[in-house]
Amino acid sequence: MDTQTLLQLDRDHVWHPCTQQKDHEKLPPIAIERAEGVYLIDKSGHRYIDAVSSWWVNLFGHNHPRLNNALKTQIDKVSHHIFAGFTHEPAVELASRLCRLAPAGLNRVFFTDNGSSAVEAALKMSFQYWQQTQRPQKTKFVSLTDAYHGETVGALSVSGCSLYKDIYRPILLEGFQVQGPDCFRCPYGLQRESCPAPCFEALGKLVADQHQEIAGIIVEPLLQAAAGMRIYPPSYLRQLRELCDRFEVHYIADEIATGFGRTGKMFANDHAGVSPDLLCLSKGITGGTMPLAVVLATDRMYDAFYGDYVDLKAFLHSHSYTGNPLACAVAVEVLHIFEQENILDSLAPKTALLADSQSRFEALPHVGEVRQLGMVWAAEMVQKKAGKIPYPWQERRGLEVYKCALERGVVLRPLGNVIYCMPPLTTTENELREILDVAYEAIAEVTRS
Ligand SMILES: *Cc1c(COP(=O)(O)O)cnc(C)c1O
Repeated sequence: MDTQTLLQLDRDHVWHPCTQQKDHEKLPPIAIERAEGVYLIDKSGHRYIDAVSSWWVNLFGHNHPRLNNALKTQIDKVSHHIFAGFTHEPAVELASRLCRLAPAGLNRVFFTDNGSSAVEAALKMSFQYWQQTQRPQKTKFVSLTDAYHGETVGALSVSGCSLYKDIYRPILLEGFQVQGPDCFRCPYGLQRESCPAPCFEALGKLVADQHQEIAGIIVEPLLQAAAGMRIYPPSYLRQLRELCDRFEVHYIADEIATGFGRTGKMFANDHAGVSPDLLCLSKGITGGTMPLAVVLATDRMYDAFYGDYVDLKAFLHSHSYTGNPLACAVAVEVLHIFEQENILDSLAPKTALLADSQSRFEALPHVGEVRQLGMVWAAEMVQKKAGKIPYPWQERRGLEVYKCALERGVVLRPLGNVIYCMPPLTTTENELREILDVAYEAIAEVTRS
């Protein structure tokens, strides 16, 4: 199909995610034909560095031979089969390996097929746990402002980004939302690196007052990614764990974005040395090849659902593609690659390179902050540095940076006024330098006027 026909048919029939389709009148989608390493390649051969890991899913680059082989080997055995009453080696191997790698105490794995549905499953598990352990009044969830936990109705209910949420409020679940950490605009005037997180007080107070009604607290550990790559210190998570223990509330960790090495450790919770009661994983789990998600749970959680059928305690929740063997086979290979290629150890010079860019970017008159955690890097553009005044969102400065960077061969999909990169973990230092140079030029150009 020639590109023009393809784009015409796309305009006629395809509804793209998270997109005002009218934008395509001026900026049509780019038709990708193939990909290799960090590059997406379009039909006319233009190459774009995928600096956002294709919405945070890709870990080791595109078209990875080992991941492709794992998929090909599995496809000749069985692509999919029912996972109730049946099981298979890739799922079993993946589950047992994940339990060994995950923060201590998480020993049970429930499969779903995307991040939002993992969050839904975790919320339902937490709720049902209290129903089955004589605390039926614990029915509500606490989340943080600007949180992002997905787009399905339950997940959206515990999210905080008003852009995605406001219009749906009448159909969302009732719960509590407390002011989350905002280190760039810290109301206490503290520095992120040395911070004991006094902003935790808001959450502490709410839970102390309302714990009788609270089933769980869901957070994105250390990184509120969709909120604009907001990064907060591990001390917040340690206080959260203590609070949950003291008031008998589940700590539900959404590591859908942060899991699998993004933050420099396997899981963001590892920076704080804490374990959640429920852990949601997806995105990087298959290295960006197949949809898959899991919820890890403690034995204590699991045991509350275990009993004779007639007690009706089972977790009666399923998805058609639960435990898909193709996805599980690739996910197992992802874990092999982590181990055999020492991926986590290889990150140090790269994360240092990202961190070192701070002074260069912050010297720009309209960059308010550069923040970085592991392989996540972000620059927040401001209209005025004094007072950290944001550009009006209607100006769509981030989109302008995106266009500018695209012309220079780098995909830097923005989040409002925040330009970020979250490249594959295997991105080379030279490629990282290119990403940063392009980000610098694009930001400088778009903030000149
Ligand atoms: C992407 C994301 C989700 C939702 O996952 P989907 O697979 O897009 O449904 C949930 N939580 C976090 C932190 C995410 O980054």
